[in-house]
Formats: sequence, C-alpha cells, structure tokens
Amino acid sequence: MSQKFIPLSVPNLKGKELEYVTHAIETEWVSTGGSYVTDFEEKTAEYVKAKGAVSVQNGTSGLHLALQICGVTREDEVIVPTLTFIAAVNPVKYIGAEPIFMDCDDSLCMDADKLNEFCEAQCNFIDGKLINNTTKKHIKALVVVHVFGNMANMEKIMETALKFNLKVIEDATEALGTYYTDGPYANRFAGTIGTIGVYSYNGNKIITTGGGGMMVSNDEELLKKAKHLATQAKSDELYYTHDEIGYNYRMTNVQAAMGLAQLEQLETFIQTKADNFKLYKEMTEGIEGLSILDFEPNIRSNHWFYGLYVDDKYPIDIDKMISYLGSKKVQCRPIWGLISDQKPYEGSQTYKIEKAKNYLKHVVNIPCSSNLTVEDVQYVVECLKNPEA
Ligand SMILES: *Cc1c(COP(=O)(O)O)cnc(C)c1O
Repeated sequence: MSQKFIPLSVPNLKGKELEYVTHAIETEWVSTGGSYVTDFEEKTAEYVKAKGAVSVQNGTSGLHLALQICGVTREDEVIVPTLTFIAAVNPVKYIGAEPIFMDCDDSLCMDADKLNEFCEAQCNFIDGKLINNTTKKHIKALVVVHVFGNMANMEKIMETALKFNLKVIEDATEALGTYYTDGPYANRFAGTIGTIGVYSYNGNKIITTGGGGMMVSNDEELLKKAKHLATQAKSDELYYTHDEIGYNYRMTNVQAAMGLAQLEQLETFIQTKADNFKLYKEMTEGIEGLSILDFEPNIRSNHWFYGLYVDDKYPIDIDKMISYLGSKKVQCRPIWGLISDQKPYEGSQTYKIEKAKNYLKHVVNIPCSSNLTVEDVQYVVECLKNPEA
C-alpha cells in the first residue's frame, strides 16, 4: 500500500458547515449582511469572553483596522516581533508608520524583558509619550503575536505598555482558544488582554472560513469604530454620507455560516491537537537531537502548530530534514524568515535580535491538522527515527 500524503495543516470540515452554508445560499443572504455574520460575532465574543467582536475579511485587514483605531498614523512607530508571519507587520506600513523589530524569547513570542529594556534605555517618556531616541518619533503601539498558539508573556508586556502608554494589538490569529489558567490574567483568552485582538480564519488556522478574520475587544467604542471603518465609513445608510476614508473589509454571510459551524467544533479540535502533541512528545523522547517545543505552563494552549527543535546532535540539518520528510510524503516547514531581514524592511530599526536567529535555524513545524490520526503521528515519528541524508 502506498503511503498517503500527510499535510502540515489542513481544514477539517466535518461539522455543520455544509448545512449552514447551504442555508445561507438558499435564503440568498450571501453578502456582508445576514444573521450568520451577527451570530458568528456574538458566539465568538461569548467564547473568548470579550465584550464584542467585529468580523472582517481576514486577519490582515483586522490588524490594519486595529492599528488605525488605536490612533497609529504615518508619524508614528510601532514595536513588532521579527519572528512571525509578515502579515503581522505589513499593516504598519499600510498606514505609513514605521516598525521597530523586537527579538523573541523561548516561547517564540516577543521577548517581554527586551521590550521593557528597549523602552527604558532607548526611549524617553515625555508628556505621556514614548519617544524613540534614535528617530525622535512617537512609539504609539505594539503588536504582540501569540506564535503557534502559545501565549506571549502578557503579564510583563502589559506592565510595560501601561507604564509607557502603549496601545497593545494582540495578533491572536494563531491562538484562538488559548487562555491563561493562572496568574493575574487567569481565564483571559489570547486576544482579549490588550487593547484589541485579531483572529484569522485562513485555511491553515485552527478553524477556517476559507478566508476571514475577527476583531475582539472589551472596549465597545473601539469596536464601533472598527465596524464603521470596515463598512466604508458610511455614517448614513440612506443618503450615503461618509465621514472618513473607510474600507470594504466585512466578512460575508457565507463565510460566517462556515465559521459558526467551525466554532462549534473548536474545543474538539483543540482536544485532538493536544492529544497528538502529547503523543508526538512521548514518541520522540529519546531520539537524539530532537525535542518538541513546549507551550507555556500557565496556559491552556490551543496547540495550533507543533515546533520540533532540531539540534546539532541530529544527523541532518532542518533543510535536509524537510526535504527528506517531503520524500516520505510528510509535509513540514521551517519557521518564517525574520521579517527584519526581508527586502521591504531593510533599514528598519531592530533591537538585539539574537534568539530569533537561532530558532529560525533549528525549528521545523510538523503535521498538526485536527484530523491527524494516531497512525499518522506514528508514521511521522518513524520517519524521524530513521533520517536519510
Ligand atoms: C495567519 C496570520 C495572519 C494573517 O491572517 P490572514 O487571515 O491570513 O490575513 C497574521 N499574523 C499571523 C501571525 C498569522 O499567522
């Protein structure tokens, strides 16, 4: 029997997706109006215990709006992580603002200590504004990404943000369902701790609408602004008056129908992912040179992506490993190229990027879909045990 292909991360659509989408089509509510949109928003807000939610076209547009409603302008700067998907940072440039790149810590998320150190040592706090000593510009916000479903150190990050009057945009596109189990933020979900949080429903995320996103916040005024901007900033429905430049960033009812069905299965997906994570961890124990990266101990992670750390004791490096596994029909991927090294960001300010460079060279993402079976995990681990150069 020939081995089936094991993808890295694919959708799992075995719930009521077809039923709800069919209903949306049969009732002919297929555009940005319709009850699935409001339902999906309400159920999402309820699930993450936020005051409200506003659906958007994708995570990227949600992040764009988030920066805008946080008051970031082309005069400002925004602190961002260097180790993440580029969509976390590009919206800073859409606005014309400048990013400052921060290193990661061992959670792969933004290093909270370096963040604080940078604000203390490289900036001045004048009249409630954090001013960058190098550029003399106002740093107004930071974008924190909860990488792979882990949680950034929000306790420390929020302390720094509070001290220096920074708005906190949580890119929780990979971390829907992750929450603190301990500490001052116990029971708070990723995305609901900062000023505003953004989720993504792209095809590879833990739940998907094909393409889509959601903004959440406990500040209802901000959400109102977001919705206004997402709907062309229309201030009068009948006469079409517009009080600013808006966007067409709303989700459609068809997408929301799918999203609602997906949300119903989210906890099941998380359970499967957590089980498979545990299995990978147990089965790879004892393979020289390999370890599965843990999630933070004080959280319930959604276990979205698994990071396999490959050190120098392993017979082959990650590039060889990825192509070897590919030849065995196992799809793997290195983590992202650092954003501060990408062409559009040449010359952007960076602060002590060290750990991110190391993780980039050593971490591989291995198959983690919510429909991955025990046999699949066993097969992947068998391949890992017998690497061929
Ligand atoms: C997926 C992702 C995004 C973008 O979401 P889209 O819905 O694809 O626009 C942004 N940031 C991070 C970290 C992501 O993983």
